[in-house]
Amino acid sequence: MKAVVSLNSGSSSIKFALYGLDAQGSPSLSAGGKIEGIGIAPHLVARTVDGETIFDRNWPDGANLTHADLLKELFDWALGHLDGYEVVAIGHRVVHGGTQFAAPRLIDEALLDALDALCPLAPLHQPHNLAAIRAIRTLQPDLPQVACFDTAFHHDKPLLASRLAIPRALHDQGIRRYGFHGLSYEYIARRLRDIDPALAGGRIIAAHLGNGASLCAMRGGRSVDTTMGFTALDGLMMGTRCGSIDPGVVLHLQTQMGMSAAEVEQLLYKQSGLLGVSGISSDMRALAASDAPEVEEAISLFTWRAAREAGALTASLGGLDGLVFTAGIGENNADVRSRICRRLEWLGLEIDGLANAGHGPVISLPDSRVKILVIPTDEERMIALHSLTIMEKRT
Ligand code: ADP
Repeated sequence: MKAVVSLNSGSSSIKFALYGLDAQGSPSLSAGGKIEGIGIAPHLVARTVDGETIFDRNWPDGANLTHADLLKELFDWALGHLDGYEVVAIGHRVVHGGTQFAAPRLIDEALLDALDALCPLAPLHQPHNLAAIRAIRTLQPDLPQVACFDTAFHHDKPLLASRLAIPRALHDQGIRRYGFHGLSYEYIARRLRDIDPALAGGRIIAAHLGNGASLCAMRGGRSVDTTMGFTALDGLMMGTRCGSIDPGVVLHLQTQMGMSAAEVEQLLYKQSGLLGVSGISSDMRALAASDAPEVEEAISLFTWRAAREAGALTASLGGLDGLVFTAGIGENNADVRSRICRRLEWLGLEIDGLANAGHGPVISLPDSRVKILVIPTDEERMIALHSLTIMEKRT
């Protein structure tokens, strides 16, 4: 059976998924898994679509194992255990496509060079994405690989939603608002067309609330504005990231408090957000189990900030027809959804308490002027679909 693999390679983890192709060439998930703890004590686990564990390995002293080493382990295992599958392409999530790449691309050396040049725009993510691509080029030089960009969905948003109020020359050098989580939003736009085509043609805010969190304003399934900007640090409060912050704070930390740029980066990316405000955890599940007042304040701030940004995006859209929740928190935390929606009642959102406790997709009351939905995201599937489209164009 022909198959496509999706890879999402981050700083300390690699997520992977294998999709078998049916006679019509549609992908269906066969297996998937994760390598976590890269650089410390890696753990690789792979499961079938039915949840059966098919590979589970720990490297307790694996601090020296790179992404490339671990991908080789995965490949070696897969070659021996996945007979019956012929992998025709590997698709990758690549965080930054810059101003140049508005759609997925087949990877070659020239593209890799162009993507290398974008590393300064996403120094914490892009090098890991490219390392995985290069590792596979070494292992399987003839296997087609496809780059799917997190920025691409936002590429054609209006200029005003891209421009920062800084000197024009800097915009021309690429210092502008890009937006991220594009593969997730693209998937949500597609699913919404299946679930409620009329609504999909309207003014929608999609709320991707996971460890990273952002909102995307879509009109007719296309991005017109989003809360993340130049980097994935902007916008909403997140698990460990601060979201929008007065840039004066950054200057103050450096000029008055003597922090280095690296220390400020660590503070804003890793020690802020839910973790920083609660002082307990970045994980919403852990926070939900605590009754500390700092935790209540952290969750309140998270939901208030999300509602506030949704108000701003409603202005970008000129009104609102639907709000869609997705990702770990958005899909699973009814309390967070309810708190955000209650703050947006003035906009015509009426959440149905019973439906919100269930499985969706619609969780608003029948008379709610703005429809509210929960739609599970699937970035890996979007990568597989893009990879197949690129392969079809090739033949
Ligand atoms: P990312 O892909 O950005 O790493 P996820 O989309 O997996 O993040 O979201 C992680 C967040 O979702 C965490 O705060 C976690 O607590 C929360 N989450 C995940 N699953 C659940 C669940 N079943 N119930 C409540 N919260 C959940």
